[in-house]
Amino acid sequence: MANLKLSPGVITGNALKELFAYCKEARAALPAVNVIGSDSANAAMAAAKEAKAPIIIQLSHTGAQFYGGKTLDNSAQAASIMGAVAGAHHVRTLAKTYGVPVVLHTDHCAKKILPWVDGVIAHSEDYFARTGEPLFSSHMLDLSEEPLEHNLEICRKYLSRIAKMKMTLEIELGVTGGEEDGVDNSGVAHDKLYTSPADVLRAFDVLDPVGSFTVAASFGNTHGVYAPGNVKLKPTILRDSQNAVRTQRKTGKDEPVSFVFHGGSGSTPEEIKEAVSYGVVKMNIDTDTQWAFTQPIKKFMDDKGAYLQSQLGNPEGPEKPNKKYIDPRGWLHLGEKGMTARLVQAFKDLGSFGKFDF
Ligand SMILES: [Zn+2]
Repeated sequence: MANLKLSPGVITGNALKELFAYCKEARAALPAVNVIGSDSANAAMAAAKEAKAPIIIQLSHTGAQFYGGKTLDNSAQAASIMGAVAGAHHVRTLAKTYGVPVVLHTDHCAKKILPWVDGVIAHSEDYFARTGEPLFSSHMLDLSEEPLEHNLEICRKYLSRIAKMKMTLEIELGVTGGEEDGVDNSGVAHDKLYTSPADVLRAFDVLDPVGSFTVAASFGNTHGVYAPGNVKLKPTILRDSQNAVRTQRKTGKDEPVSFVFHGGSGSTPEEIKEAVSYGVVKMNIDTDTQWAFTQPIKKFMDDKGAYLQSQLGNPEGPEKPNKKYIDPRGWLHLGEKGMTARLVQAFKDLGSFGKFDF
């Protein structure tokens, strides 16, 4: 099939729906990477450029807070709201300069921090009133700890609000195992780690009439990287869910649901390929890119340790200046390059490398 043609900049509205539909047809998914500042955001855009594919850049609640600055008071979510807004403007300002299409998204939002997403949506509404498009492309609500009907009722309410700006909502059904961003699900009972096709069908019935949505389904995936063997990955849950919706609702589409794979870090290429073949369009990656950023910096600090003890004086002489080793740009860029390379690998694993023209 022909490559999808995209324009550089932030993808919103119907263009995002078309992008996900193309991904399903092309058996490709996009990496969704958590960024925490301009360094990681730029590394992500550099990866999209190298992979000739759009990238999903997302901010978590604490990632957005960090983007705003750890010293800010976050008691009324101000740091997480304005940090997310700042991150979105940073990406909007530079995406065309990098020449890449980007999807702007916020990650997990549990019930107790809904005021965070409320605040970010208000900024999108303001931006929409001025420009005709929302600041962000999509948001995620993670109400998987709530009973199903309560989860879906809150999601329906939020989707009807953001659908006015043609935004997409990502919901979560079932619990992603492991720990991320201060949420620890590592002790959750094993049967809760699997979404049922009946739940996906119910979500489709509640949300499809309202607007565009994606489903983070649990099929044994976990946040973070753990020794194998604890939980068994069952991507066939995604296939069975597609079958349930297709046969019982006569949608006319092979894959009526767009799935999101959380906890992509540490997954094998075979597991990723199988999940993508069942309609996964987005795979979250965080732990692996954190490692890819930090590892080259650790190597630099180890290798150049003798040049980092003082501003003057190193093995080459007691008065030799160490400025070029001290400058954070030197080692931060090593981190950026490591993260970019890991993301390019993710595009290849997900089958989206080079499948786009822009
Ligand atoms: Zn997640």
